[in-house]
Order: sequence, then structure tokens, then C-alpha cells
Amino acid sequence: MPELPEVETIVCGLKDKLGDLEFSEVEVHLEKCLLGSKKSFITSLKGKKILHVERRGKNIVFHLNGGMAMVVHLRMTGKLRFLPAHTPPEKHTHVIFSFKGHPYQLRFVDQRQFGRLFVEKKEGGDRLGSLAVLGPEPLEVSAEEFIRRAREKRRAIKSLLLDQRFLAGVGNIYTDEALHRARLHPRRQAASLREKDILRLYHALQRILRGAIRAGGTSVRTYVDARGATGGFQKSLRVYGREGKNCGVCGRSIVRERVGGRSSFFCLRCQPEKGR
Ligand SMILES: [Zn+2]
Repeated sequence: MPELPEVETIVCGLKDKLGDLEFSEVEVHLEKCLLGSKKSFITSLKGKKILHVERRGKNIVFHLNGGMAMVVHLRMTGKLRFLPAHTPPEKHTHVIFSFKGHPYQLRFVDQRQFGRLFVEKKEGGDRLGSLAVLGPEPLEVSAEEFIRRAREKRRAIKSLLLDQRFLAGVGNIYTDEALHRARLHPRRQAASLREKDILRLYHALQRILRGAIRAGGTSVRTYVDARGATGGFQKSLRVYGREGKNCGVCGRSIVRERVGGRSSFFCLRCQPEKGR
């Protein structure tokens, strides 16, 4: 699933190209990709101009004129492609956006069909009611706030990091990588961690997310950016997807276990369950 760095990469690739374009035609081939009806989705977009595109958590937000916004959540295998209109649509192309006087189309492609798109009226400024539950952005939250909020929670640290209400944008890959770099077992209770442990985690997470954005994201399975390019951060993964391989720090075998219902990769020597 695309996480913060992948969605950021997609948004960076789109925002210069889409600014000021006006939707002329919207084709929906699979209605289940939409929250709400096909008819209202199409009528609320036609004739609207894209003012700017931004990322919020793992969501892509297209700010439109008239106080509206279109939100896209890619989930497992969703992709947004920006292609010349004459390019034959690839398999699993579910929504096609055409623009007034522009030779390119924006296409939503999704093999597993978990991705969702919807249009929403903004509540004043750029505030979106549907995204109001999201926690702070990991690259914007201060260390003090991160530590304070984490220490209030009696939950496994891994589950807490994955909770989008605690922090927006982090998923399984970067959580496992950050916990390994911070030398924390994924099942350790957030409230039991020392301040310096959480600070280490905060910095590890920021370093990893920044590194992954620089690398254009991580491509495991299907992720590609808006141009169809794969990311490069998979070469830097230390634990994710490396079950049975040696830990690059200590040499012990990486294990894979379920933590809070999610598959988790970690090193039991670098990340002891009892803490140090
Ligand atoms: Zn290790």
C-alpha cells in the first residue's frame, strides 16, 4: 500500500501539471470506486478548475474552485496516471478525467479495487470534514507533541504508529523500518517507553520518511508514480519483507510475526521485547 513517501511522490509529480486545469469530461467505469453516486461525482466535477494538489496522510487532495475538493485514497493497489489521451487505457482503469484544451488525461487505475474517490464541500479555508479525524503529519509534528501523545497510550507502539488518528500517513513498511532503527520491539507498550526511546523513534521515523521521499518511494508489488516510474527505497529496507534474512546490524535472522493483526518484521536481538 502506498504510504506517505509514495503518495508525496505522486503528488509532486502531479501538482505542476494539474494546476489550473479544468475538468471537461469524467468517465466512471466502476462505480464502487466512488463514495457517493456516479451522477453527483461527475456533475460536481465537470467545469471545476484544479487550484492545487496536496497530500494529507495517505490521501491526495485536489482543491477545486467553488469551495470543493476531490479526495483520492489509493489503498492497496490504486494508481493515478497522467497520460496523453490517445494512450490506450491499461487494464483496471476505472475513472478517466479529461481536461479542457489539454491533450492529457488523469486516470485512476486499481487492480484490487479498494481505492476510493469522492468530492466534498470544504468547511471553510482548506478544511475537509472527512479528513478531520487524521492525526498530525509525521514530518510536521514536534518531538514534544509526539512524545507526549505517545506516552498517553497503553497500546503496542506498532499499532499506535499505524493508527491514522495518532499520526497520518505511516503504514506497515515505514513503521517496521522506524522501529528497527529505533531498536524498539513492535509489541512494547507506548506508555511504558522512556522519553528517550520515543525521541529515538521520532527521529528514526523522520529520517526514513525523508530518505524514502528522496528515493521516490518504495516499490514492493505494484507502486508506481504518476509517470509510471518505480521508487528506489526498497534497496534501503532493513527488515520489511526480509523474513529469514540476516539483520544488517547484528546478523541475526529477521522474524515475521503478527502484531495487532498486522504482519511485522523485526530483529529480536536489536529489538528485544523486554527493553533495555
Ligand atoms: Zn539485529
